[in-house]
Formats: sequence, structure tokens, C-alpha cells
Amino acid sequence: MNYYSNQITTLIEELSKLPGIGTKSAQRLAFHIINMPQEQVERLSGIMLEAKKQVRYCRECYTLTDQELCPICSSDKRDHQTIMVVENPRDLAAYEKTGKYDGVYHVLHGAISPMLGIGPGEIKLKELMQRLQGDVKEVIIATNSSLEGETTAMYISKLIKPTGITVSRIASGVPVGGDLEYIDEVTLLRALEGRVLL
Ligand code: ZN
Repeated sequence: MNYYSNQITTLIEELSKLPGIGTKSAQRLAFHIINMPQEQVERLSGIMLEAKKQVRYCRECYTLTDQELCPICSSDKRDHQTIMVVENPRDLAAYEKTGKYDGVYHVLHGAISPMLGIGPGEIKLKELMQRLQGDVKEVIIATNSSLEGETTAMYISKLIKPTGITVSRIASGVPVGGDLEYIDEVTLLRALEGRVLL
């Protein structure tokens, strides 16, 4: 791929490492960036760097935020006794978009997968159990309906049950193997409303 200068080739290579970006898209993006006004490129690269530096985990729910507490955890309009457990911040965003859930969240940052060697210690499960020592009424498990998501849901419900806290699982309106982030809001709401006690 040396039809281009080294700089452009490197830019294309780096862009093609991003998820969902193949070589063709990477080329298109690279040429687009080269043609952008200098200050726009500076702004873009600056924002990327700042985001990387500032963004961290929320102290409570472990979603990504640039504050110590995310806006959801710091809001007194939310029901802090109901915790929805999701696999990643994108799933949280999917439920937030419905605008109908007023509890708080807990982001696991993954799911248990014996096949990939991801055990309970690799996700934010210990942190969830610590939160449950506070005043919590219900934990809604909203992991994906993939094998990993189901395994994680079962594992969590077994851990929580002895505490006496209500544990529920979102209903199976969500297609098997489906990632929450790709599911429409109506289906997500139906899954939440139809959740079953574990
Ligand atoms: Zn939070």
C-alpha cells in the first residue's frame, strides 16, 4: 500500500484499527481528514486526547463519566434503591434513551465467559455486591441475552438471593444473542416492564 506517502499510509493504518473501519473506510476518512481545515483537525485531535484523559469510571455505577459521580448517580430525581445491571455504557445509554427508567445503573464492563477466560473477577461484580450493602430494594439484571449474558445473569442472581434483595431479569422481548444497544426503545421498555422475578 505504498501508493501514498508514508504519513498517509500510517494514518490509514491507524484508522483501520478502529472497530468497524475497514481499509476502504480508513482511506476515505484519511483523505477527508487531510482535506479538513487545519483548525478542525486540531480541534478533533484535541477533543480525543482530552476525552481520553478526563473520562473515568463513576464512583458509584462505573459508567464512563468526566465527574466523580455521573449525572445519573448524582441526581436526586432517580430512585437509588433500584439498580439495573448492564454489561456496558452503551446498554445504559440505550435504556436512558427510553426516558422511562428512573432507577440507577451498575455497569459490569463485560460478561462472564468461560470460553474467553473471563471470570467473575474480571467484571465489576465485587463493586456491585459492595453497593448492595446500602439501601437497595431491587436489582434488575439487564445483561444481553447471549450465552455470556445469561451466564452472568444466573451467577449474579445466585449471589444476590441470600441477601433478600429482590432480583429480576428483563423479559425475553430481547432477541436471543441480541445486543441491547441495537434494540428499539419499545422493545426495551416491554422487556423492562415484563421483567420476571428470579
Ligand atoms: Zn454513576
